[in-house]
Amino acid sequence: MFGLDLPVLFVLIVALAVIFFVPIWSARVASSKGRSPFLWFFIGLFFNLFGVLAAYLSPVNADGVRYVKCEYCGEPIRAEATVCRYCGKEV
Ligand SMILES: [Zn+2]
Repeated sequence: MFGLDLPVLFVLIVALAVIFFVPIWSARVASSKGRSPFLWFFIGLFFNLFGVLAAYLSPVNADGVRYVKCEYCGEPIRAEATVCRYCGKEV
């Protein structure tokens, strides 16, 4: 159909999955480290698995601030914060 046989379709589907899921993956890793998910989405988009690798290798504190995960909503918040800036709960 349409001149495409099954292996070609399979490769296309895998390629599309990589194009869409790798940036989301790197954005998630980056946001768990208190970094901008938006910026890292594009890094993942352009550099693919190298972007994900960079997100994993990047240090947790982006600007000298240490981040911890909020135990209620899972968003990264400053380690010295007493109230989560995302969900408003005391931590
Ligand atoms: Zn929270």
